This record gives sequence, C-alpha cells and structure tokens, in this order.
Amino acid sequence: MRILFAASEAYPLIKTGGLADVAAALPVALAARGIDARLIMPAYPQVFDTAKDVTYTATLGEALGGHLVRLFAARMPTTGLPLYLVDCPALYARAGGPYTDDNGADWPDNHLRFGVLSHAAAVIAAGSAGVPWRADILHANDWQTGLAPAYLRFAGAPNTRSVFTIHNMRYQGLFPESVLAELELPRIAFSMEGMEFHGQLSMLKAGLAFADRITTVSPTYAEEIKLAEFGYGMEGLLYARRRDLTGVLNGVDYAAWSPQTDTLISAPYSASDLAGKARCKAMLQSELGLATDATAPLLAMVTRLTEQKGIDLVVGALPRLLANGAQVAILGAGEAEWERTLTSLPFAPGRVATRIGYSELLAHRFIAGADLFLMPSRFEPCGLTQMYAMRYGTLPIVRRTGGLADTVDEVRILANGTVTGTGFLFDAPEPDALAEAAARGMDLFADKPSWRLAQRAAMQQDFSWARAAEDFAWIYKVLAPHGEAGDDKMRGEAA
Ligand code: ADP
Repeated sequence: MRILFAASEAYPLIKTGGLADVAAALPVALAARGIDARLIMPAYPQVFDTAKDVTYTATLGEALGGHLVRLFAARMPTTGLPLYLVDCPALYARAGGPYTDDNGADWPDNHLRFGVLSHAAAVIAAGSAGVPWRADILHANDWQTGLAPAYLRFAGAPNTRSVFTIHNMRYQGLFPESVLAELELPRIAFSMEGMEFHGQLSMLKAGLAFADRITTVSPTYAEEIKLAEFGYGMEGLLYARRRDLTGVLNGVDYAAWSPQTDTLISAPYSASDLAGKARCKAMLQSELGLATDATAPLLAMVTRLTEQKGIDLVVGALPRLLANGAQVAILGAGEAEWERTLTSLPFAPGRVATRIGYSELLAHRFIAGADLFLMPSRFEPCGLTQMYAMRYGTLPIVRRTGGLADTVDEVRILANGTVTGTGFLFDAPEPDALAEAAARGMDLFADKPSWRLAQRAAMQQDFSWARAAEDFAWIYKVLAPHGEAGDDKMRGEAA
C-alpha cells in the first residue's frame, strides 16, 4: 500500500499548529505498519535547510501560471520519513510565514502556492509526474491541499483514490472565481456540487466534494461539523456525505512529549516518581517571575491566540481564578490585539505571567511545570495540548467540545476513595463556567492523595499514533482500487 500524504507544514521543518505534528507523526506510524507512506510539502527555505538527504528528482514542468516546478526527494531529520519537496522559488522562497507575511496578511498568491502543491501531489500520486513511484491513496489535509482530490478526479486517475482530512473547518481557503483559470481547473469544477461556495472558490470545499473519503480528527467533531454551529456553511454537504465521513482521533508523538525523556524540561519525572515535576514547577515559577510557591496551583495555557481557543474566557475568569489562589501563566502567539491585551493585563506580576511568541522550549516547560492546563476552546477539532498535558500529569480544564470531549473525563472521587477521570469539563462558553471547572481542579489539587491518583490516571492515558494508524490502514484498504492485490501490478517498478 502506497500513501502520499500532502500537507502544508510538518514538524520540525515548519510549524504553525497541530497539522505539523500530525503530518510528521501519522505517516511514520503508517510506515510502522508496513505501509509505504511519503509526505509531500512545499520546499520553503527553512525546509530545504532542515531536511536530510535532499536530492533533485524530477522537473514537473511549468505548472499553473507558468511557474517552473521541480521536485526534490528528502528525508525527515528525526524519523527518516521519505519526503517529496515541491520547489518553486517564485512561490515559496520568501521570508514570513507559510500562509501570511510578517504582518499577518495572507500572501496574495496563496491560490497558486497551494494550487501548485496540490497539483504536484495529484500528478505524483497518479504516477504521471515522471517519478518512479505512484500512490494507491492520496491523503490530503485541510484547505491548502483541498484541490489535490479535485486535480486527481479531473485527471481521471483510475488507480488512485483520495482521502481528505479536516483539521479545522474554520479555515476555508476562499478565493475569487477568477482564479479558476489560473488554477487550470475545468469550468464544471466551479459548481454548487463542486468547489463553489457563495460565489467564491473554496479549497476546503474542493476537498470535501471531490475526495473519495473524508475524515476529521475526532469522533465528536465529525458529528459537530454536520451542524450549522460548527459547519461554517458546509454542514449540508457534510451531512450529505455522512457515510463517507469518519472521525479518527489524532495521536500524540510520545517520543517528543514524555516527561521521562524530555530534554527541554528542567528535570525528568514519571508517574511513579514526581519529584522532577516539583522542580519543573519551581523553575518555571522563577523563570516567569511568579512567586516560588509549591502550594499555589499553577494554571497554564499554551495556544495560538485566536477566538477559537477561548482566550477571552481565560482573561474574563482571571479575577476569580486569582481569588481562588491560582497562579496563571499564558504562552501565546497570534492575533495582534490578543498579544497586546495579554502583555498589559492589570494583575500582580507574581500571580500572572504572559509570554508572547512561539517557543517550543517554553511550551514544554509550561506543560511540565503547571498543575492544571487551560483549554477552554469554543470549538476544538481534536486538540493536542490537552493530551500532552495529561502525559505530564498536568490536569486539563476543557470545554466539552470536539476532541476535548473525546479525550478528557471529569475527575470523580468515589465513595471508596477511588478516583476516576483525568480533568475538568464545562459547557457554557462563559468565564464563570470556566472558573467553576477550575475551582474543582484547585479543590482536588489541595486534596493531595486524590490529586496524585488523578495525576497518575492522566499520565497513564495512551493516545499513541499506533491506534490512529490502524484506523487509517483500514480506511485505505477498503478504499484502494484493487485492495492489496493492486500491489502486484506495481512489481518491477523502482521503489
Ligand atoms: P491547533 O492546531 O488548533 O493550534 P493543537 O492543540 O492541535 O491546536 O496543536 C497546537 C500545537 O502547537 C501544539 O503542539 C502546541 O504545543 C503548539 N503551540 C501552540 N501555541 C504555541 C506557542 N505559542 N508556542 C509553542 N508552541 C505552541
């Protein structure tokens, strides 16, 4: 079974959010099951700099808009995962982020940047790129590769099927109708059954309409997106395709996120020996200028700063959290207005600390050093950080939505003293509801024997990628044109 996994970011080459973690880990977990999984992504300058064994492979010719596109093979530095890097300096070689410039404005040629990526993925998967490899399944992710299933469909590739995974419905890749010709898509693609969305071209909708199967990153989110509240206008299409839509919970890369082996944190620790966690907390408190007080519950948040993540709920709940004795530490990057608000919070520096920016190092230290983890998302397709937090014995306080509802159980102390559950949940997207759930967390923190039991239960949760890979292996097998027998045809071709 050959899988071409198409994504616009992958850790550690380039990362803005959870998609990068998924793109790095899921293909590796598939490979561990004997699947030939390869990742295709843009050759941004930092990707060229960080990838291993980069070798020129093919010229894909003048794609969309006359841009010369070349293909490089490479490997992921950490895992050795095979990569295809789509090189087109006119589109990818520039300073700034993968989607926006340094001021946060979308790149004006994003339709071409991701059109070219999607097109390359489709021709390679179909075996028509002059590369001695093709895929049984093209697995595209989010709007940036939403056109890949469409290109595949219109190219009429009989031996390749497509899967499209939704990591977030909120980002739709909307462009004016006029880009259709530039993207060399047939007129018929731009219909209500295709990629047209209220007069615009939606790359997300292209993926939803043209992929053979759709998945999203948690079972609860798979249900939610069929409703108007979460579907952003595509709930009807998702409902119509409900038999092709499955929720497969993301996994955690425990090689990167385990307190026993984490080299970024101040001291290693485990469920059976939590002494290192106390050191991590004390170091974090002193690094952030918080009072070095082991008895104060430390609540941390690590997040993109955007409305989705409920940062407004945390800011609104701060007075109540502090009144209950909490210390609060927030690491965030994103919308300028939230960055400003967080840097000018009117609270004592010994009680509240904020760090603005994207820091892998601080993310690990916040998660290891905190007692409780704040994740009050308005919606959350899966969420990774609450799963990281549990592994670090940092109990999550989450809204009951999407992947948060699927991964966190409310802590309960039973009559016989047994403790079940791994965190604290609330429903209403309001500061008071968050503060109440946090108060339950802080009460448990004060009851040390029960707290230790809940911490250990959280640390023993297993959200490994092996489980997700098993689900995907099954999805691919059912979908592949000739099942596993299809491989016979490919014998003799170079790997
Ligand atoms: P999303 O993909 O919606 O941002 P996830 O919880 O799925 O949310 O994944 C977020 C990922 O990005 C995690 O690996 C988290 O540690 C990381 N992250 C988010 N914000 C920051 C930040 N400010 N600094 C460092 N890492 C961050």
